[in-house]
Amino acid sequence: MNEPAAVPHLHTERPERVMVIVAHPDDADFGPAATIARWTSEGSVAQLVCCTSGDAGGEDADLDPLQLARLRETEQRSAAAHLGYERVVFLHRPDGALANDLALREQLVRLIREFRPDAVLTMDPTVVFVRNSYVNHTDHRAAAMAAVDAVYPAARNPMAFAHLSKEGLAAHPVGRLYLFFSDQPTVYVDVSGTMDRKLAALREHASQLQDPRETEARLREWAAEAGSAVGVEAADAFRLITID
Ligand SMILES: [Zn+2]
Repeated sequence: MNEPAAVPHLHTERPERVMVIVAHPDDADFGPAATIARWTSEGSVAQLVCCTSGDAGGEDADLDPLQLARLRETEQRSAAAHLGYERVVFLHRPDGALANDLALREQLVRLIREFRPDAVLTMDPTVVFVRNSYVNHTDHRAAAMAAVDAVYPAARNPMAFAHLSKEGLAAHPVGRLYLFFSDQPTVYVDVSGTMDRKLAALREHASQLQDPRETEARLREWAAEAGSAVGVEAADAFRLITID
């Protein structure tokens, strides 16, 4: 079957209920934060799920991982406040050891059925290497694949984790998956108006930023590069999967 390649285009659809699922505190703020800021300011309701609390996100083996986890949760909650999230959930799985297992998928299905999002945003789980100079963290891939597997088929299948249905958490179809940091983006959200809020959110992750100015410049560059594909000042790029 020959399908025409999707032409990258400006995406103006706005999901009403949005769930972002990531591995670590800060992933979502390096990722689609400006889109979330835009959508929440236009009326969407958003929740953020961090599978780990980033307890291995340092360079010092003597650092207390639990203390670091607490600090990073505080940083993430402060960051989320810049973007309009109504809730941040931490699943407290071990940083560096995240697995896309049944237990994680069950937790995600429970959250999806409680919140009933129209769209789930997560990283593109198929990306392993970027520009032959970067390996996508194993936790990123695990969290993203678990999110995809939770969306389809588990959240919409009443017989998957049947005890959840019996608890009253009815099956819920999520119609859109927005995959960020993809090497095959198909849609672009204009975030020219909310880049500043993204950068303010990012600055809250002080424990992770060696050189905040350099990071800020790099993120502006990425957004400008994505924006140039569709003729706007700044954009977030997504590989959009539509599941009907
Ligand atoms: Zn990460």
